[in-house]
Amino acid sequence: MRDKSHPIFGAQYAQLPDRFYAAQSATPVADPKWIAFNRDLAATLQLDADLLSGDVGLAIFAGNQTAPNTTPLAMAYSGHQFGHWNPRLGDGRALLLGDAQSKDGQVFDIQLKGSGPTPYSRNGDGRAALGPVLREYVLSEAMHALGLPTTRALAAVTTGEMVRRETPLPGAIITRVAKSFVRFGTFQYFVAHDDKEGLKALADFSIMRHEPDLQVADHPYLELLKRVISRQAELIAQWQLIGFIHGVMNTDNVSIAGETIDFGPCAFMDEYDPATVFSSIDQFGRYAYQNQPRIGQWNLSVLAQSMLPILHDDEDQALALAQDAINEFSPQFDDAFRSGILKKIGIANERPGDYELAIELLDLMKEARADFTNTFRALCNLELPNPTVAAAQLPLTEWINDWVRHTDGGKRVDQSLMRKVNPAFIPRNHRVEAMIQAATDGDFSLFEELMQVLSRPFEDQPVHHAYTLPPAPDERVHQTFC
Ligand code: AMP
Ligand code: MG
Ligand code: MG
Repeated sequence: MRDKSHPIFGAQYAQLPDRFYAAQSATPVADPKWIAFNRDLAATLQLDADLLSGDVGLAIFAGNQTAPNTTPLAMAYSGHQFGHWNPRLGDGRALLLGDAQSKDGQVFDIQLKGSGPTPYSRNGDGRAALGPVLREYVLSEAMHALGLPTTRALAAVTTGEMVRRETPLPGAIITRVAKSFVRFGTFQYFVAHDDKEGLKALADFSIMRHEPDLQVADHPYLELLKRVISRQAELIAQWQLIGFIHGVMNTDNVSIAGETIDFGPCAFMDEYDPATVFSSIDQFGRYAYQNQPRIGQWNLSVLAQSMLPILHDDEDQALALAQDAINEFSPQFDDAFRSGILKKIGIANERPGDYELAIELLDLMKEARADFTNTFRALCNLELPNPTVAAAQLPLTEWINDWVRHTDGGKRVDQSLMRKVNPAFIPRNHRVEAMIQAATDGDFSLFEELMQVLSRPFEDQPVHHAYTLPPAPDERVHQTFC
């Protein structure tokens, strides 16, 4: 028999000083029921999937039972929300349960979201509605299948309670997994409290968890900053290349580990329009698709500013080091975007004129309001060098001819590479919204089907062709809510 006192989760973050968090238990819910348990992820984390997929897991992931020897905690952080400084944020509806380790030694943190109020809840109820829980579950797992750095979803349950939003909605709790839940805003928190020791301890934790090779570096904190910059440049380039709009790139929603985190009112673009905004709370389009790289750099400047006290004892020197590091963001983003967009048109080894060709395609797609995902996927399947062009690609015919001509009659185009970077399936908004609507009415079959389809986004899956279709005019989703 299993030893009941054996800890299920480790407790690395809880080893940090008390002022990093508030110990807090989840608030039990009336009638928890399973939505999903991610067995593959549990296995990756070397967790006991049999135990956790049963009643014990249901109680733990609903917050009705605390796992043996764990002290759940709400993490403290600050942040800039839509550019405005807010010193008092923190996990207002999330609780860190602890950590688990994959076979390769990477430690992951495990967190409930929607588990009840904490000292950081301010006026919030600490709860989550079913819709946003399902959106996070589906989008984070889809992002993973698409190959982007992201938090994962381990479990989701309904609570049997309603939450009050604009209308009453069924409540739910998601259990998510990240390399850590340390945010840029966590660093800001210690600066706001003029707490250099805390700042150091947080940087040391981040290095230990995310960049262990830097433990022996001459300037570990500067190197940490540089790593974070590189990871953000890479991440945001990948968002741009896949057509993902995060929606709320506040500094409290940016991960120090470079993972996509805090899936709120996020969405994938259908037709290519760089000005696209979905989030209902983004009135001025601050976080529009085309602004993401610029905002990414702004967020990094805020992080660098927060790290100044530990970069160098001399303020001017610290500032100069931070500035030099930040200046690396743009070239790194440009490189990642450039090589990525070339792969999307099948080019692995760049020659003069290739990049201009790719940009020309984007310009044409914008003019034609072409579907971002389907346009690239259609190019993967054209027969080169003499493609038969379908009606939907007609506006691009001339470009396709240029492409073939410019690539030695298509000889420099690697379509199998293209099929690995241009997905057939993305979590299209109208599908996600229809799934949420059905689930809110008690039918989870669309959730199951969507998860199935999105687990293999680069395979054609002809039976699921309907999931590749952009929304009909009456299916278009204009806003997403968190
Ligand atoms: P977000 O921008 O959604 O990631 O959240 C910003 C802040 O609001 C964080 O400190 C969250 O913990 C907090 N928050 C959001 N929703 C709620 C809620 N329903 N109850 C308590 N706190 C919340
Ligand atoms: Mg405390
Ligand atoms: Mg957040």
